[in-house]
Amino acid sequence: IERLRGRLSKSRSALGQSLLGLLGAGDLDEDSWQDVEDTLLVADLGASTTTEIVQRLRAQLSARGVRTSDDARALLSEVLTEALGADSDRAVRALPHTVDGTKQPAVVLVAGVNGTGKTTTTGKLARVLVSQGRSVVLGAADTFRAAAADQLQTWSQRVGAEVVRGKEGADPASVAFDAVKRGVDAQADAVLIDTAGRLHTKTGLMDELGKVKRVVEKQAKVDEVLLVLDATTGQNGLAQARVFSEVIDVTGIVLTKLDGTAKGGIVFQVQRELGVPVKLVGLGEGPDDLAPFEAAAFVDALLD
Ligand code: GDP
Repeated sequence: IERLRGRLSKSRSALGQSLLGLLGAGDLDEDSWQDVEDTLLVADLGASTTTEIVQRLRAQLSARGVRTSDDARALLSEVLTEALGADSDRAVRALPHTVDGTKQPAVVLVAGVNGTGKTTTTGKLARVLVSQGRSVVLGAADTFRAAAADQLQTWSQRVGAEVVRGKEGADPASVAFDAVKRGVDAQADAVLIDTAGRLHTKTGLMDELGKVKRVVEKQAKVDEVLLVLDATTGQNGLAQARVFSEVIDVTGIVLTKLDGTAKGGIVFQVQRELGVPVKLVGLGEGPDDLAPFEAAAFVDALLD
């Protein structure tokens, strides 16, 4: 919590502390409610989530009253945690399977637009799994961004995972195929595939990502499709997310760069809009700066 608090310091002052200040003042007049609404909107919670949260706060406030700052904190904590869908399943599915008596790796596709932190997230996730004692194969299927494969290779050395890469400009699907084949042959626990992040046209993306998934599925089940979104891009990130979720079945969101933004409220909006749980959050550039997302801990860090 302490670390999360530090990393979320911008959102904490812009969102958590502002709301506590407003609600802790006791009886709120219309102007103050307007300020509550503005605070939520500015922190990127989006119009519909904001309306819903304000309604719940108003109803609860008149039902039970808020006398102390602890009351305000408890009320905010309850309403905000609920708005994050407290009982969503946020576990990343990265456990191997047994098929016909043979061990098969879990396959995780990591998708997202270039620059969002896709390759970094793939490396960090490998580190988490390796530190849990699992063997990991990384697939460098982002063959369009010249440096991506080198970057993933550096991660593989850093975390102790194997990497499969193709020649520059190779077909992403063929690299993905080779990575999964290696994972199956080596009886690895998980194969993480860094996919190409070109969002040139929707059909182009569909062709590329769709093909990667189809080709992978010839050998193993795709357990998880993680969509990486940059929290600092706000509405733009949401627009990207909509396109991706039309093209492929996204099963989890990774929200990166939450450390660099005061608009942590985007977590609420992304989850609500896409109907897909936020599973992981990026809280910095370092190898250990990927954390499982927990609604209650996140809200606590905003309010503490
Ligand atoms: P890709 O093009 O999507 O694969 O993006 P990269 O993985 O290369 O990341 C782009 C930049 O964002 C790099 O400088 C990363 O170090 C940085 N980055 C990735 N995740 C985070 C994060 O959670 N917080 C911060 N502050 N920077 C991040």
